[in-house]
Amino acid sequence: MPIYDFKCEKCEHQFSEMKTIANRDVPLSEPCPKCGLVGCVVKEYLGAPAQMLDTKYRVDSKHNMGGFRDAMERMSERPGIKGTPDGDRIKAKYCT
Ligand SMILES: [Zn+2]
Repeated sequence: MPIYDFKCEKCEHQFSEMKTIANRDVPLSEPCPKCGLVGCVVKEYLGAPAQMLDTKYRVDSKHNMGGFRDAMERMSERPGIKGTPDGDRIKAKYCT
């Protein structure tokens, strides 16, 4: 059973509970275990992979340019493209 992290928005109390996937939202409608208020428990995503929390990590960032450049370079080397003005243009634009 996965462990879900919850947090009370009122008293900032954080807690984890083991829940079945079907019951993962149950604590949201239950009272906070610390202050007893109902309706202020929210889900926390403490277990999310670091890259999901890192806003600098984007698929269109420099991070992935390497792969894109590689692909363009391979394309410019393909027969029928290599040595043509198109091939040269791709190389000049993406492979420098
Ligand atoms: Zn609370």
